[in-house]
Amino acid sequence: MFWSDRDDAPALTAPLGTNINADLTIIGGGFTGLWAAIQALEEHPGLKVVLVEGERCGFGASSRNGGFCDSSLTHGLENGLSHWPADTEVLVRLGHENLDEIQTSIDRYRITADFRRTAEVGVATEPWHVETLERALEAHLSIGDDMKLLDAAEMQARVHSPTYLGGLIRHNDTSLVDPARLCWGLRAAAEKLGAAVHEHSPVTAVTHDGPALRVVTPGGTIRSERVLMATNAYPGPVRRPRRYVIPVYDHVLMTEPLSTEQIASIGWEKREGIGDVSNQFHYYRLSEDDRILWGGYDATYHFNNGVDPQHDQSDHTHGKLAEHFFETFPQLEGLRFTHRWGGPIGTTTQFTATWGTAHEGRLAWVAGYTGLGVGASRFGARVALDLVFGQVTERTELEMVRTKPFPFPPEPMRWAAVELTRTAIQRADRRWGKRGLWLGLLDRFGVGFDS
Ligand SMILES: Cc1cc2nc3c(=O)[nH]c(=O)nc-3n(C[C@H](O)[C@H](O)[C@H](O)COP(=O)(O)OP(=O)(O)OC[C@H]3O[C@@H](n4cnc5c(N)ncnc54)[C@H](O)[C@@H]3O)c2cc1C
Repeated sequence: MFWSDRDDAPALTAPLGTNINADLTIIGGGFTGLWAAIQALEEHPGLKVVLVEGERCGFGASSRNGGFCDSSLTHGLENGLSHWPADTEVLVRLGHENLDEIQTSIDRYRITADFRRTAEVGVATEPWHVETLERALEAHLSIGDDMKLLDAAEMQARVHSPTYLGGLIRHNDTSLVDPARLCWGLRAAAEKLGAAVHEHSPVTAVTHDGPALRVVTPGGTIRSERVLMATNAYPGPVRRPRRYVIPVYDHVLMTEPLSTEQIASIGWEKREGIGDVSNQFHYYRLSEDDRILWGGYDATYHFNNGVDPQHDQSDHTHGKLAEHFFETFPQLEGLRFTHRWGGPIGTTTQFTATWGTAHEGRLAWVAGYTGLGVGASRFGARVALDLVFGQVTERTELEMVRTKPFPFPPEPMRWAAVELTRTAIQRADRRWGKRGLWLGLLDRFGVGFDS
């Protein structure tokens, strides 16, 4: 993977090798787990926090992603409006505060992660996308976002692709980041605040131990007052989230660095994050060293919540992504892709995180941000801390937090329903966005499948 295989990757921390005690144990060292450690220690200095990660911090989605760090806590404004219209104002405000606090923490802990508050551009590449952009504009203007609609000529002047039929620029509430370096910086910050981080320490069980819990790893156990499970798409040691959260593989290509002439041939001077608005959408951005990260399109579910390193590579999906890349930027013909990878996204039927507790409230879990968890994971961790410390806050009172999404059916219906939905989504993209009977039915029940 491009982001994580670089010379400045930090050395691994030692695996847990003995039996210890903790006030709070965090399982999983992605963004959720790391932000949980940091926020817990900022709020309760001196708390004994132990974070155990099965591989290395950032091994999962947190260092495989596109680095779009958005203020939305609801996988986009329109999804939030459709599920929780009464809470929109609060969710939007909390989302902006969350993004601001991410930036503040990056500054406070001196994390070098190429974090840039930049605009995001939605592009239309089919005539029906233009209407989608117009609807999005209306929704965003209703909450006071700083937005601008561009016609085909304006969009093509900004970024030179012959496929663009229009664009929608959102100025005020998004950013781009180098995700692996953010993980590394957050790990260092958590350790500086006093957390003990043990990598290569997969948790195999969480059991009762008197009034506390015991977190079991191959090298030792942790007797802990409270536990926060942050394993997202991975099957963690507590089964409860598996009804609500399924792993879906998303794939990415990274090009070699572009030459000055190649960069000039595509414009893109403002280096915004770009995404098209198909149901099977692509997202793309420039890296610090002028590569293009190009991802999305296919979202693949493997039977029985399958998560396996062999799913990281897909000749079919990576091939399609390459084809679409050169359709978008024909002037870059001949550019090489130096990296390709994939990773599991945890998704729910309403595309946002969901929370829960187990073991009489001594363990809290959060998972399911779908493809917009880089920013939202900090908020997800904050809410999970509220829950595990028994605090009633504005956050825990949100309907999004109090209620669960519609569960996925058990196998083999789960696989069949996801495949049916994927096929219907592909068909809708071929038929001017017309959603057809199956997607219409899902829409009516407020459920769906996305990446
Ligand atoms: C290809 C791809 C592109 C994406 N692009 C974007 C994007 O541009 N913007 C955006 O907002 N979101 C994006 N996402 C989603 C985003 O990356 C995730 O929502 C976010 O990183 C979730 O963080 P997390 O910490 O909850 O999960 P993860 O990062 O998956 O962390 C879970 C951790 O738990 C560990 N673990 C699992 N089981 C155990 C165990 N038993 N014991 C100990 N540790 C365990 C894993 O090793 C892993 O490190 C993308 C995801 C993918 C895969």
